[in-house]
This record gives sequence, structure tokens and C-alpha cells, in this order.
Amino acid sequence: MSAFTYRCSQCGAEFAADEATYTCPKCGGNLDVILDYEALKPKAEALFAAPPDEASLWRYLPLLPVGDPHGEGTPLRRAGWTPVYTLPAIRESLSMPNFWLKDESPNPTASFKDRASAIVVARAREIGAEVVITASTGNAGAALAGMAAAVGQKAVILAPKSAPQAKIAQLLVFGARVVLVDGTYDDAFDMTVAAAEKYGWYCRNTGYNPFTAEGKKTAAFEIYEQVIRPNGLAKLNVFIPVGDGNIISGVYKGFWDLQQVGLIENLPRLFGVQAIGSAAIANAWKRGTDEIEPVSAHTLADSISVDLPRDGFRALRAVRNTGGAYITVPDEEILKAIADLGRTGVFAEPAAATAFAGLKAALKDGLISPDEPTLVLSTGSGLKDVAAAMKAVHAAPVVPPDVEELAKVLGE
Ligand SMILES: *Cc1c(COP(=O)(O)O)cnc(C)c1O
Ligand SMILES: [Zn+2]
Repeated sequence: MSAFTYRCSQCGAEFAADEATYTCPKCGGNLDVILDYEALKPKAEALFAAPPDEASLWRYLPLLPVGDPHGEGTPLRRAGWTPVYTLPAIRESLSMPNFWLKDESPNPTASFKDRASAIVVARAREIGAEVVITASTGNAGAALAGMAAAVGQKAVILAPKSAPQAKIAQLLVFGARVVLVDGTYDDAFDMTVAAAEKYGWYCRNTGYNPFTAEGKKTAAFEIYEQVIRPNGLAKLNVFIPVGDGNIISGVYKGFWDLQQVGLIENLPRLFGVQAIGSAAIANAWKRGTDEIEPVSAHTLADSISVDLPRDGFRALRAVRNTGGAYITVPDEEILKAIADLGRTGVFAEPAAATAFAGLKAALKDGLISPDEPTLVLSTGSGLKDVAAAMKAVHAAPVVPPDVEELAKVLGE
């Protein structure tokens, strides 16, 4: 564990670790966790010089603001260290010799959110919180429920009742107390904040709890170890799906940490990809302002369907400070991306496939050229939303049990 302070991303005010819990006490902005980078330099060098001793994000404990939560022999230990693929078929079809895809579906609850929830559970245990609570469109709750179950931590999850069935099933199976709200995610968000205050519970909410981005930053550490360093890259484009903007803010924070300890010179260019129907952050980017206006979100990519992004300010900063861009894609392109990735053996949920759809759009618009080193972050498993996956493919023919009929449909 590393000692830390907080700095407000919006007003710049600084706080000691015990002076804040969630957002900035002065202005309500999201807090960045600031480590003691000078003291960390030799530790970081030693950490990254050694081969991974554990295929897990806990490898990065010296650069995390939490202590070791243990949980050996449980799924908590397995969060992070997801694979990176080159996908030769995609390299060939896009003429991109330096393409990579990082697949987050092997996480214990099958999405990127395990990274954040693992760290929040560690923090909850450290501060002796009896209960952790979160509002979630699905994955964040599933991740918190799963990571909490792994170590016997009590969890309460509020989700909109419209969340995909697979995600609700995960919440229930992991034994969390689940309440479905007959309202929006934003309603659930406000209710969890109030409940946490009333009962003294610890709230994980995205874009509210500063530790979620600290968990998500571990993906940047892995990208450094799996792609940047072994290939000697000075530059890298990273495509990230964006809803609330906490993943892109967390990945930015990870690269920023690496820069502070002197391990990388340049920050990779971050490209945020939103669905056209849920593009509050991309809209602000296009207008050239930090004023984010809420939208009435409608996209089949439920994990990035957000009216009022909770981490929009930092999500804009991440792209601006790295020379990246925001890109929007229609739902049809998201479905096509599911099929494209599926044919390479990667099953992505709609939000996850959005990053790949964004890459194709960026190539088409000339935002990047095909020879540039580029990584797509595929954030969650297609099994999370089977109904959406079925829209990306043709239905299978049904035949009577007869080989002649089989020959007919196979066209042999
Ligand atoms: C939550 C989520 C996102 C978006 O992350 P934000 O922090 O809301 O921008 C993307 N993909 C998947 C699979 C998610 O669960
Ligand atoms: Zn502030």
C-alpha cells in the first residue's frame, strides 16, 4: 500500500487521506488519489522489472492506495491480468500490423468493473465498513457483489429493473441484497448515496468513490507491461468505451502514475468512444467545452447508456491531455463490431464492442493511420447480454431430424 492524499480534479483543492471520503468537500468535483511519486520511483522500478508473481492486479499493491485484502484462494485474487491478443485476422482485415485487443471478459465476474470493485472491497475492509452499497446498471453491481462475496463482505446493490437478466442473475447468485428500482440509474444513484449516509455504509458509486479509478488504472499498468514495454513503443493509441467516463479516467490515471514515476515519457493517446444515443461527453468535446449537458440516453449498449455522466470532467481531461479524441458510433456499428470480434473468438457485450466500432470509425475518418500502434479495450463478456448478441447475428435455421434437410440448409 502506498500513502496518499487527494486532489480535486475540478478546483485543485488538496486533502489529507482522512479529510475526504467521496467527492471534493469544497466543490463536489471528483477526487484524484495522489501518491508520493518520489518515494515510489525505486519501488516501481523494482516492481516492473520483476516477472509477474501473481496473475492479478494485486501485483500492483505498492502503487495502490489500499493494503493487501488477502482473500487468497478466492476470485478476489483473480481480478485483473487479462489477456492481450493480436488477433491476426483483424490485423489483416484492417491492415493494422500493430493492433492489439485487451479482453476483460476473463475477469471473475466477466467485466472490467472487477478492477474497481476489488479495490473498493479492500478499502471497505480497511475502514471496517460493515456493508458496501452501489448503484449500478449491472456490471459494477455484479462486480461488487462478486468481489464482496469472495471475502464475506455484505453488499447491497440497487439497479434499474430494466438491467439485462444475466447481470441481475449475477447479483442474486452472489448473494447480495438486491433491490430493483422502478426508475433510472440516476434515481438509484441518489438513493444509494442517501442510504450510505443514513446507515453508515460504504458507497462504491462510479464517479463518486475515488477508489474506483484507482482499481481501473491497473489496466494501464498491464498495457505497459504487456504491450508498450515489450514492443518498445514510444506511442500508443488506446480505444475505450465511455459511459460515465470512469474507465477512461482510471486508465488515464494509470498512465499518468507511470509517467510520474518515470517509467514512460509520453502518455498514450486515449480515444473515448460513445454510442450516438448516449454521447453527453462526446457532445461537450465537440462543442469544445467542459460543460456537460445531460442527454436522454437510448442505446442498446446498456453499460454505456448514461444520461448524466458522473465522471465527465475527468473523462474530457483524459482525452485532451493525451491528444486523443471522442468518437461516436451508431448502434448498428456496435452490432457489427460484436460480429467482427465474434469471428475472431472474442465475445464482447455491446458496450465492450463499442471501442472496436470506434476504431473502425477513426480509421475511416483519418483520425489515426493504420500503421500506428493501437489497442482496443474490450470491457466485458457477450454473455452479459445475450439478447443484444442475437441482434448481431442471423438466426440459425431449424430443420427436422433428417440429413437430407441438413444438406439443404448447408447448401452442400
Ligand atoms: C461500465 C462499463 C463501461 C463504461 O465505463 P464508464 O466508466 O461508465 O465510462 C464500458 N463497458 C462496460 C462493459 C462497462 O461495464
Ligand atoms: Zn473541488
